[in-house]
Parts: sequence; C-alpha cells; structure tokens
Amino acid sequence: MTASPFRTAWFEVSQLEPGVHLVSEPGHVNSWLIEGSDSALLFDTGLGVANIRKVAEEITPRKLIVVNSHYHFDHTGGNRFFDEFAIHRLGGELVAKPSPHELAEGYMAYTKRLLEAWGPYREADDLYFHLLTAERMIRPLPAGFDPSAYAVVPSIPTRLLAEGDVLDLGGRKLQVLHTPGHSPDCICLFDEANGLLFGGDTINTGPIYAHLEDSNLAHFTTSTARLAEMASGYRRVFVCHFLRYDEPAALVKEIAAGFKELVAGEAFIRDNVDCFNFPVKEACFERFSIFIPAGEPARL
Ligand SMILES: [Zn+2]
Repeated sequence: MTASPFRTAWFEVSQLEPGVHLVSEPGHVNSWLIEGSDSALLFDTGLGVANIRKVAEEITPRKLIVVNSHYHFDHTGGNRFFDEFAIHRLGGELVAKPSPHELAEGYMAYTKRLLEAWGPYREADDLYFHLLTAERMIRPLPAGFDPSAYAVVPSIPTRLLAEGDVLDLGGRKLQVLHTPGHSPDCICLFDEANGLLFGGDTINTGPIYAHLEDSNLAHFTTSTARLAEMASGYRRVFVCHFLRYDEPAALVKEIAAGFKELVAGEAFIRDNVDCFNFPVKEACFERFSIFIPAGEPARL
C-alpha cells in the first residue's frame, strides 16, 4: 500500500536540489534550509504555529544558522525555538518590538477563510484543472493548536547583518543583499556559485506587498532593478510566499519592469484586499501583482 497523497503534516519538506530544501507551510509561507558541508542555514522560521526547529533538525545533522529575510511575523514566528538568529541591522529593533494582538487575530481569521476557500478550490481542481500536486495541499492547523492563543512573539537577534556580508556554510557561500522596499530590513540571499537567489519578500509569485506602513515604493523599484541587473547570475529563484516557489530568473526581470511601469503610471490597476481584508489597489501583471495603498497604508 502506498501512502495517501493527501498531506496533513503542517510542514511540507522537499529537496529541490542538492542541499536546498523547501520547508513550507503551504498557502502561508515558505522557509528554506540551505546546507553547506559545515553548517546549514535556515532562511526564515515561519509562522511559529509548529516547531520548525524539529523539522530542520530532522533534515540535517549540521549546525543550524538561522537568518530572517525581514522582521514580519510570518517569517520570524519560529525564532523562539532557537537560541540564536540573525536579521538585517535595520530589523534588529523591529523584530524585538511587541506587536498588537489584532495582527495575530487578523492572520488567524485569514487562515480560516483560506481553509474555507480550499475545499471548493480543490474540488474544482480535481474535476477540471489538475494543477494541484500533493506538496501544494493546504493543511488544517495542527491538532491541539488553539488559533485564539496564537500570538506574535517578539525575539531578540544575536547577530545583525549588513549588505555584502557573506555567510560561509563550508562549500557554499551565501551573500546578503539588502533589498529594502517591502520593509526597510528586507534581504535576499545569493548563492553565486550555484546560481540561486532566495528572494525573501522582495520577489514573489502572487501579490507583492508594497502597501504596508513601512513599505517604500521607490526603494522597492531600486531594489528590484538591482536584482534584475544581476539576473544572468541566477538559475533558480526561490521565494517565500504562495504555491509557485521555484521560478526562473526571468521573473526577477519582469518584477523590476513591473515596478517601473507602476511608478510611471502605466500599470493596469484594480481594487482588491490583502490577507487582513484591508482594501488595496492591485497593479496586475502576467505572473505576479503588486499591492499599493488604496488610501492609508496598512499596518503589519
Ligand atoms: Zn513581509
């Protein structure tokens, strides 16, 4: 008998190439475990709904180095499972600040809506579209997890990173690229020897959140233009949100061009809401979109 293809484990783990593992909370956030010969780097710790450290330690026996792509709760929620973690220096204070309870509450309300939408979506896929694969299945919250007790827990970094820092894992080096725009402290990691870009929340395959209180559209445009200039150096681009997590370098160029069109006032724009049901304007492109403020910017 083969195992059921319908996943229930909260984390999805898959190796996408030697030493690169996706550790996703499907439909929520994708974290990445990147191995060298001496140590392994966990890029983001997820929502904190379940223990990502346990999962990372099952994948690799190597010493773990934990790095956050930026301070937002969906990338740092599992920091509390580790004694040490690093973040860009501009995120050091932000990640240590308590956040309002409405944030955690709002995200759990989104999770409920996501799960309600999932049933009919999957049924339609089974009958008509056939795009879904087992690793993309949205899962119920883990047994015993109480959504009303979910909290965004502040954490204090033990190391601050800056542009150009190189994280040497032994046989693999990851370069820190400071790419502000989504938030001031956003970074990408670049594995030049293997042609890999880990895009954090700067490169994404669904809506790119540029509408938040600490987002900056001009910085986003500059950061994505810089990443596009380097695009001949990427074979694969791995991103932190949505179900398309593995993309070619062409996406980076398209996103940079999209930001340019948007600031030039040339993008197609419609109304939408973000994951907190907050009204936004959405600039739509073929393989991604960009959320910008509809009025007051949203808090996160
Ligand atoms: Zn974010």
